Parts: sequence; C-alpha cells; structure tokens
Amino acid sequence: MHRRLFFALSFLFFAASYAPGNAATPTASGEAATKSWLVRWQPTLLVNGTPIVFQVRPPARLESLSGRWFDHEVFFNFDATKKSWYGIAGVSLETHPATYLLTLKATTSGGKEISFEQKLRVRSAKYPSIAVTVAKQFTEPSPEQLERINQEKTLKQDVFGRVEPEREWSRRFRPPVNARISDVFGTRRTFNGKVQSMHQGLDYSVPPGTPVSALNAGTVLLARPLFFEGDCVVLDHGQGLLTLYLHLSEIKVKEGEHVAAGQEIGLSGGSGRVTGPHLHVAVRWQGIYLNPATLLALKLP
Ligand SMILES: [Zn+2]
Repeated sequence: MHRRLFFALSFLFFAASYAPGNAATPTASGEAATKSWLVRWQPTLLVNGTPIVFQVRPPARLESLSGRWFDHEVFFNFDATKKSWYGIAGVSLETHPATYLLTLKATTSGGKEISFEQKLRVRSAKYPSIAVTVAKQFTEPSPEQLERINQEKTLKQDVFGRVEPEREWSRRFRPPVNARISDVFGTRRTFNGKVQSMHQGLDYSVPPGTPVSALNAGTVLLARPLFFEGDCVVLDHGQGLLTLYLHLSEIKVKEGEHVAAGQEIGLSGGSGRVTGPHLHVAVRWQGIYLNPATLLALKLP
C-alpha cells in the first residue's frame, strides 16, 4: 500500500522534475538513453523547517558530485544499487516562501565538468504558540549557572560546526520510542512569561526509564550532561546531519562510538530545562534545526 503510493509519488517527481527541453535524447545507436539530469526530492511539499533528501541521476558516470543550497554545500554519496547519488539538506525555519535554486556541480569519469540547476518552491508553514512554566533557574540563571551555560555554548558551537561529508545514514529514519507526540516542532513557546523560544524538536510523552533508540546509523558526537539539555546524546549521520536526544536519565553510549539504526542509546528522563519527564528529539543539518516528524515520514530506499 505504502510502497504503491511511493511509486506513484516517484512518478510525479519524475514528471515534475524535468525542465522543458531537457528530455531524454536517443543515442547514435538509437537506444533510448537518458541524457539529462534527473533530480527528485522528498518530501514533495517543502516548507520552512523541512529536511530534504535529494536523489540525483546524472546524465553521465560521475567521479564526484556536490550541490549548493542556501550557501551550504550539499554532500552526495553514490548508491550503486539505485544508480543514484543521495544527499541531505534542509530549509531553515526563517526561510521565506519563494523559489530557490539547488545548483549541482559534477566531474564525469572522463574528467569533464558539468552542472545543473534545479528550482525548488518553498512554502510557508503554520506553527502553533504556547506558554510553559519551568524551574526559575532556567529563565533566571545564577552567575555560576550563566558561566556553565556559556562554556557549553562554546562546546556546542564546536561540536555542531563539524561536518562529516561521508553518509552514514541509510534507509528510513525510525522513531526513537513508540509513544505519543506531546509537542510538535516549530511551536513558539514563552517560558515563565519571560523567555521566548521556538521549539526546535519533537517531544514524546514517555515515563522516565523508557529505552531510547537511534533514528539511524551514526557516530556518537556528544554523550554527556548539559545545563538546558540535561543528559544528552548527539549522533552524526554524515552529510551534515545530526540527531539529538535530550533530558535522558541514563546515557548508554560513549563519544566516538558507532551506533546502528535502532540501537538503544539511553533511557528517557526529565533532566535539564523541562516541565516534566519526556523525550525531546531534534534534527540538525549544518546549523539548521529541522522537523524530525518530516524526516521520520520519508520513504527512503
Ligand atoms: Zn522538546
């Protein structure tokens, strides 16, 4: 059922992605061969906050492929079984609705430089607003707490600034727990009537001690307690994509360790800035927070 829907959607991607005058041209032998670029993306509807998975079939065998999207490099890795290059990217929450360009640059196996531009339309998403109450220290921290907050800010900048081009993720991203979602991505929150922030992740309503699993395969970038995040694990899935698991009661992985998709990385809890025990999961691509729910819904090969 799902598979059939995916094929139907794939066909739509095909149909929509061809630029006029860019159709398949026959070779000298008369054999039908595609001599144009084929760019597909998921999800089909792009809004501010959307993660995007690109699938590119170039017109020739390539040595390398890279993309440019909103001043970020998009890293592509070749998948021989699909004869396609896959790359991941995203649209930030602050992006205005408009048409934007994905620029692809490649070197063929013959050493020729080729390029292609794909237009993508970004629409505007509607996100909710709520007021929440947390312990006073999280909105009015003491000087010592402020010092810790600043130290951790530097640590996070360093960790989040690293980009590992090689893809570690594969196939579908899976939910970290089997539970109800208690708050969605993009909610505008006012903490204790003072601090305003945008909810940059997905909250699952789970009792403390619930096993939390990795959304996909990756390397543990961070596994330690932080002031706001509580006990926290950050996984690097390659191509600039990170997933974050916050407010844990126990961490079960070590920094530098490789984890498989679905592997238990810790137990949920209520540490850090929380209104109560829950699991907060976030998705980051090159400094941009993206909607985890969208990533989890993608039907990836
Ligand atoms: Zn949250």
